[in-house]
Amino acid sequence: MSNEIRVVGGGLAGCEAALQLASRGHRVLLQEMRPVRGTEAHQTDGLGELVCTNSFKSEDPSNAHGQLKREMRALGSVLLRSADLSRVAAGSALAVDRGLFSEAMTEAVGSHPLIEISREECTGLPDGPAVISTGPLTSHALSEAIRSALGVEGLAFYDAIAPILHRDSLDDSIVFAAGRFGEDADYLNCPMNEAEYSAFIEALVNADVHEGHDWDAVPYFEGCLPVEVMAARGPDTPRFGPMKPIGLIDPRTGERPHAVVQLRREDRAGQMWNMVGFQTRLRVSEQRSVFQMIPGLAGCEFLRWGSIHRNSYLRFPDRLTRHGSLLDRTDLIFAGQLTGVEGYTESAASGIMAGINLDRVTRGLDPALPPATTMLGGLFRYLRDADPDHFQPMNSNWGLVDPLAKRVRDKKERRGLLAERAQADFLAWMDAERVQPTDVGGAAPVAATEES
Ligand SMILES: Cc1cc2nc3c(=O)[nH]c(=O)nc-3n(C[C@H](O)[C@H](O)[C@H](O)COP(=O)(O)OP(=O)(O)OC[C@H]3O[C@@H](n4cnc5c(N)ncnc54)[C@H](O)[C@@H]3O)c2cc1C
Repeated sequence: MSNEIRVVGGGLAGCEAALQLASRGHRVLLQEMRPVRGTEAHQTDGLGELVCTNSFKSEDPSNAHGQLKREMRALGSVLLRSADLSRVAAGSALAVDRGLFSEAMTEAVGSHPLIEISREECTGLPDGPAVISTGPLTSHALSEAIRSALGVEGLAFYDAIAPILHRDSLDDSIVFAAGRFGEDADYLNCPMNEAEYSAFIEALVNADVHEGHDWDAVPYFEGCLPVEVMAARGPDTPRFGPMKPIGLIDPRTGERPHAVVQLRREDRAGQMWNMVGFQTRLRVSEQRSVFQMIPGLAGCEFLRWGSIHRNSYLRFPDRLTRHGSLLDRTDLIFAGQLTGVEGYTESAASGIMAGINLDRVTRGLDPALPPATTMLGGLFRYLRDADPDHFQPMNSNWGLVDPLAKRVRDKKERRGLLAERAQADFLAWMDAERVQPTDVGGAAPVAATEES
């Protein structure tokens, strides 16, 4: 048994990290500030409280979220065990009774003999080994401490996310590669004529936006306005902003288009393409119908939807190590939404990895991360390799993993093959790194070799 390890934040990531550490023999002090200090969204003092939807999305492994769950089950996940105990019928999605779910999380963590729960706000970075998993609503005092360790730009308070599209779903008879003024050809361009542009702007300004809570009201910065807000200022505003056609010639016509939507590469393999300047609060259904009006995007596959939220997240790519620790303190590891993963299960999975790696670091081993053919490995690669200046949170999706050696056009078949490879590689990685599945309490954990 080692000296005590601190886990700060008893949310989804913190509960996972605490149980991973305790099951590896560490004494854990889990510090959770509720109910002494609340957040804008939490309503109870339960651990692992779900602040919004009661769904953890699909369990179908050919869905990226389903594959992430299979990898989490192989490692032992208290979120999935608690979800199994509190499940409600929801087709292929895993949905829960949120009260029962939080009770199961609190019971699993609270009843572990090596975990002590302390209800207090943490206001500074701990000196000893620790996991910091205080989430999108990290308290002010701790945020300030993080900013003084990482620099002011090291912690952002709002995300401004533009949709990301899968390369294979773009129409190559319309979309062309070119950079403005021929400086580079790194962008993909969707050209619009005047009629297409007018119809698009009209649909954009009339589309429904997501209504947030008062505290979620985002102070828009001029350099980063939602595209629908920009369009509402005047029909030509986007054409003088992100949709400006200057320096671009459509190879089909030999002329400059009336407007252009540019796509910027997000990953080295060139599977994920970001709609430049298209951060948006449109509802998901509206994003699909309005953005698919853009020439070349009629059948596009959305890997990430646009959104704008109050959210605390770190500048992972250049301020943290590949396993998420401070650069000069490998035993101080960040986990959960704070690291730039987006979503309940992604946050929990990141907590599992933080627990596993903090145990390794304290035993003098190198941190271990799964290969980028797996969903968790792909997520961590994104955090490390993303452009720090454009870094925005990411949810699990198939664009994150290495492409198959042979291109498969059929989406369903491609995803099935990716899931099969991901699972085999994940289990092989656990074997090679001797990562034992954690007993998360209650029912026997799912064996690493068992398909869920
Ligand atoms: C309003 C809102 C709605 C969301 N809706 C969804 C959704 O529908 N689906 C989805 O997948 N994701 C959603 N998310 C995103 C995200 O997945 C969740 O916030 C998720 O709970 C993140 O897990 P976490 O463990 O990183 O943080 P949390 O679950 O938020 O846990 C962090 C914990 O740290 C505690 N804490 C904070 N500061 C301190 C401190 N200084 N000292 C001690 N404790 C502290 C908090 O009280 C909290 O219990 C939403 C986020 C927000 C803010």
